[in-house]
Formats: sequence, structure tokens, C-alpha cells
Amino acid sequence: MKPKRPRNERTRLMLTLELAVVLPAAALVILSALHLKSIERDRGVQAAFQRDFTQVLAISEKQINQKAYELIDDVRDQFPASGPACAETMDRILATHPYVSHLFVYDPASGIVFRSQPGLSNSSASRSEHEYLSSMFSGWIQTEYGDMAKSLEELDKKGRRYPFSDWVPRGERHVYIAGQFFLTSGAGEKKAIAGMVFDADYLHDQFFPEMLNAVLSHQEEKGEKNRVAIMLRPKYDYTPLATSSGWDGGNPEVERNLEGAFQTLTLAIKLPGTTLAAMEQRFVRTSFLILGVISLLLTGGLILTHRNISREMALARLKSDFVSNVSHELRTPLSLIRLYAETLEMGRLKSEEKYQEYYCIIRKESERLTALINNILDFSRIEAGRKEYDFRETDMRELVHNTLDSYRFQIEQNGFAFEEKIADDVPPLRVDREAMARSLLNLVNNALKYSQDQKFIGVNLFRYNGSVKLEVVDHGIGIPNEEQHKIFEKFYRVGDPLVHNTKGSGLGLSLVRHIVQAHGGEVAVDSSPGRGSKFTITLPLNPKVNGHKVATA
Ligand code: ADP
Repeated sequence: MKPKRPRNERTRLMLTLELAVVLPAAALVILSALHLKSIERDRGVQAAFQRDFTQVLAISEKQINQKAYELIDDVRDQFPASGPACAETMDRILATHPYVSHLFVYDPASGIVFRSQPGLSNSSASRSEHEYLSSMFSGWIQTEYGDMAKSLEELDKKGRRYPFSDWVPRGERHVYIAGQFFLTSGAGEKKAIAGMVFDADYLHDQFFPEMLNAVLSHQEEKGEKNRVAIMLRPKYDYTPLATSSGWDGGNPEVERNLEGAFQTLTLAIKLPGTTLAAMEQRFVRTSFLILGVISLLLTGGLILTHRNISREMALARLKSDFVSNVSHELRTPLSLIRLYAETLEMGRLKSEEKYQEYYCIIRKESERLTALINNILDFSRIEAGRKEYDFRETDMRELVHNTLDSYRFQIEQNGFAFEEKIADDVPPLRVDREAMARSLLNLVNNALKYSQDQKFIGVNLFRYNGSVKLEVVDHGIGIPNEEQHKIFEKFYRVGDPLVHNTKGSGLGLSLVRHIVQAHGGEVAVDSSPGRGSKFTITLPLNPKVNGHKVATA
């Protein structure tokens, strides 16, 4: 049951991660994708724009009518009662209102008076319009007077108007005119029917373009980001009569037939330089792209989190293994010491040699205990950032030789062939003696622990290319390639049953690496399973690197 625990914890953590992060994130991505799909299918973007456009056109129509009615009412207010003097007043109105091309009034008592702007009634080129309209209106009003007057009265009561529009000849051209009938006081008892006609050129060149552009600037003031263009055309003809700035031809997105002052015209709106369909396509494509990027980022984040959690869990597992390894390592020498001390205490041993042997065992076990505790203390200092080194000029040859000397007996007693090669030309180095000795002992101790049949330990010290190298060679169990970069990590032990049967804390090599790096050097391993390992400590000769290396690491 025991080894299952970490896997269960891992599964639980992964499940939590999936439930808490993956599921909501996946749901969000899927929902957004579905939403985008539905926008694409229902042409949602186009519909939203079309609603907006319809509103803009309604506002335009309202503004156009409002302005036209203001202009009409200005004329109407000044309009004279029909009678002999009215032609003069009408000419005055025409002179002060250049946007009006024709004025007329009909009263059954005094007949029709039809006045036009001088340019339209005098020049032969423009007279066609004057003649056409004067004959049309006089004929029309005279025959329809009764009905028209009645309708005008009723409309007046309801606050409504009686507009008209037409295409008329002006010289060579056909121009669009519009105007309005209204009632005014007549010479007799009956009311007179009067009317005003907007000047076609004024409408075409000034009024319509100004109104269309005014709507656009109103839109811009409102903060609408998308620029639009508007056009006005005759209801049954697609050639524009007037356009706002930015109109670049092409099919309009939304149209609206005008009601009110200009009944036979149609307003049209579009986006300059593009179409709603193209915009929608771009929007959907960009959104999908963004969604893709977000999904990628999410996946990346999840993979990273997954890796971090796995690493943390592995470390937690290593730590718990460490505690049990260390307890085990402490207990064995302690029980041996106790056992041998008790035996000695009883004084039943027969020979002096036996006594010596027991003393020796007690000493060695205490040494092992001390080494282990020193390792742990060093490790905890390093972890807390409190490890200090005492760098002194040291004869490396002497340091290595003396350190090995105190160990030689133990090595040989364990049946190892021991070879020590110390070159003569190794110069003194500035090192922390104790730390260096501990590194060497850790390596030799590992060589002892991880050798089975081929019992050999070799230690070489020599100068090499501006550095001093210290090698510890064994013919032991070796280390698999894929594990070699991990063995220097704290708590790490190779997952080999041979290793697990050997006592250890997983701290030795991490300490060695730390100590060597604090000396400005490096430690490397060269090993093949079943054939042995070679650990090499390389220390630079350069006294600067060594000398100035921080004392606290
Ligand atoms: P430990 O207390 O386990 O020996 P170390 O940090 O000294 O911890 O070593 C880490 C691991 O590296 C060991 O558990 C072992 O698997 C492997 N190792 C170290 N030295 C040798 C060696 N000379 N031969 C084979 N494996 C070794």
C-alpha cells in the first residue's frame, strides 16, 4: 500500500487542477467558440450594424424634414393675402429667400399669381421650368381647388402638411423640385391656396449635402467609431442625387424611403471602403485567432503548472525519503555503538585483540555518525544561505594525502584495491581545507558504498590546463546515463534496488557540488552502469577567482 500514496496524492492534485482550472477554461473556450459560430451563422455583426444604420437614417430623415419645414415656415409666415398687391410682396420674399425658386397663390376671386426668381422667369434657358410649373400649378389648383382647400384645412387641423415633388425641365436638364401647399387668406371670403417651391440647385448643391454631412458630424460627436457615408437618390433611380463626404459608390447596406418634405427620395447608408459582410468576416476571423492564442496560452500555462506541481511533489517525496534514510542511517551506527559498548561493559571478552577490534568499531561508527551529521549541518547551512568558507593557501597534495590516510585502513579492510596518484607539480590553492576534505571523503565514501564485486578505488590529483583536477575512480555499479545529471540534486538517489539497499541521505553529492562551486570550480561524473564511475573535481588555478570568491555562499 505504501508506495501508492504519492501517486494518489498526485492523481488528486491533478484532478483538482483539472476541475478547478482545465474545466472552466475549456468551457470558456468552447462557449466562446460556439458564440462566435452563432454570430457567424446568424450574421450577428451585420444585424447589429444594420440596426444602427436604420437608426442613423431615421435621424437623418427627421433632421432633413425639420430643416425643410423651418425654411418653408419662414416663407409661409411672410406670405401675403391674395390680392392686387400680393405679386410685389411675393417678389420681395423671393429676393430675400434665394432658396425659393417659385411662389404662387390662387384664390377663386382673383385667380392665380405665379412668381419665380428673376433668373428663372427671364432667361430663355431657364424659362422652361417657370413655364412648366406655372401652367401645371394653375391648371391643377383651378380644377382641384375645392378638394385641395378642404384637405389642406383638415391637414392643418391635425398639424400635418401637404408636400409635393417632381422632376421638371430647367433648360437642358431635368431637376428635382419639392415644395409645399398651404392656405392663406384670400381676397374674398374664401381662403387662398398658396405654395412655395424650393430651388432645385439649392436643394441639390447645398441643402442635401449639408444635411447629410450634418448627420455624419453628429454621429462623430456621439463618438461612433465607424465612419459611415450617406447618399440620397430618387426612389426609382439608383443614381445619387446628393452624397455625404466619403461616399465611394457601391451597394448601400440599408435604405429608407423618405416621408415628409421630400417624399419621392430614398436615403441610403454604407461604410466607406468596406462592406458589412467583409467586416463581419474580419471580426469573426480575428476573434477565432484571439481565441486560439488564448487557448494556446492556457495550455502552456497548464503544462507549466503541471510540471511545477510534479517537480514539487517529487521534491516532497525525496524529502520524505530523506527523513527515513537519515533516521535509518543514524539508527544503525547508534545501535552498533550501543551493542559493542554494552559488550565491553560486561568485560567478558577473552583477548586484547577483541577489545581493540570493538574499540575500533565504536570509533568508526562514531566517525560515520559525525560525518553524516556534518553533512546534514552543512546542508542546512547552505540551504539557509549561512555557509561560510575559510579560504587559505593550502598544499593540495598534503590535504588529499592526509585525508585519504585516515581512511586508507577502512578502505583496505573492506577489501578494496586502493590507488593514490598525486602529481608533483600541483601548486598550492586557496581553499577551505575542511570543506575540500569533506568533498573528497564524500566521493570516496560513495565509491565504497556503490561497489560490489570489482572493489577498486583510485584517487588522482594532477594539474591540467590552468586547473587542478581531483579524480575519484571506482569499478562499482555505475550510474545510468539519464540519471547522471540528477545525482547532484539534493535528496536525489538513483532508483536502483542496489542503491536503496545502501544507506544514504542523497545529500553527499549536492554538498560536493556546492563546495566546489563556491571555490569557482566544477564537479563532473563519467560513468557507465556495471563498469564504474569517475567523479572529477576541477578547481581553477587563477587565484583571483579563488581569492575573491564570496565567503558566504
Ligand atoms: P547518497 O547518500 O545516497 O550516497 P549522494 O548525494 O552521495 O547520496 O549520491 C546520490 C546518488 O548518486 C546515490 O544515491 C547513488 O545512487 C549515486 N552515486 C553516487 N556516487 C556513486 C558511485 N560512485 N557509483 C554509483 N552511484 C553513485
